[in-house]
Amino acid sequence: MNTHTSILIIYTGGTIGMIRDLKSGSLKPFDFGDLYTHFPVLRNFDFHLDFHSLDPLLDSSNMTPPFYVKLAEVIHERYDRYDGFVVLHGSDTMAYTASALSFMLENLSKPVILTGSQLPIGVVRSDGRENFINAIEIAAACDGDCPVVPEVAICFDNMLYRGNRTTKFNAENFSAFLSVNFPPLAEIGVHIKYRRDLILPPATEPLKVHRELDNHIAILKLFPGITPEAVRAILNTNGIRALILETFGAGNAPTFPWFLQMLREAINKGIILVNVTQCKGGTVEMGRYETSAGLQAIGVIGGADITTESAVAKLMYLLGDGYPNQEVTRLLQTSLRGEMTV
Ligand code: ASP
Repeated sequence: MNTHTSILIIYTGGTIGMIRDLKSGSLKPFDFGDLYTHFPVLRNFDFHLDFHSLDPLLDSSNMTPPFYVKLAEVIHERYDRYDGFVVLHGSDTMAYTASALSFMLENLSKPVILTGSQLPIGVVRSDGRENFINAIEIAAACDGDCPVVPEVAICFDNMLYRGNRTTKFNAENFSAFLSVNFPPLAEIGVHIKYRRDLILPPATEPLKVHRELDNHIAILKLFPGITPEAVRAILNTNGIRALILETFGAGNAPTFPWFLQMLREAINKGIILVNVTQCKGGTVEMGRYETSAGLQAIGVIGGADITTESAVAKLMYLLGDGYPNQEVTRLLQTSLRGEMTV
């Protein structure tokens, strides 16, 4: 990195951007326009930082696909002007946004690093300051002219993860994210140790932004005792095009005839069914047990070790791009952005 390196910081909302109002004592959004006053330490970086705030700022629970499009467009419009992007984002749905961006930004050759915090940056013990500074340093890191992390990644609690491999697993600890099925891209200590062998290479083709996202999807989390009424209700959701079936263990589900019959009818109607495990780690292995062989036989697609967050984003992207079902089925079993192990 050097004085020519420029990083764009994009603030979307969330806890990280909060500071305590001295008069009222309540938390309010922080004025990032005043970045250097609040973070004089940033002057020690010898590269240029710009700031862009999205309007309106959102708690990440209120984010929807149009927001992902807006964010992707902010990056796209400024892509040539910056060497890297830091996205400040609420942690609650950060794994969904990171997954969505990874599919929407095809041929990425620059870092897009999402970060946030569990405590507002304006609180003395906040984890936000460290996360923010680490994210900036990672977005600016390069080997000569080549960025070290040309990926959509999440930087949190001294770890850097591939965004579409993450899940928020802890609402309390500073260590809020997991990437069980893929090792961290970097560990941050005295040095930032990058796993260059795991990081995707920068694309050589121009960036292509996919703006069409189709959210006519649903998730059915199985539990022992689930009723035919509950399964029928979700499969009859108006306009539904794909269903993520959150199964047990290595992709297992009841073998009850009514259950398989309902799924079969849904598949016959053209609904795509993807099998994703409820476990945080490990993979779906269709046919390993009798309890998944039936799913495989009727045409449920195995999601391997993809996270639910990533499966949601991938389906929105594939359905939005207008691929026929047969191609969606093939691409669901293909790793497009390092989101699954095949
Ligand atoms: N509710 C907040 C959000 O996700 C929590 C956070 O920022 O971590 O926007």
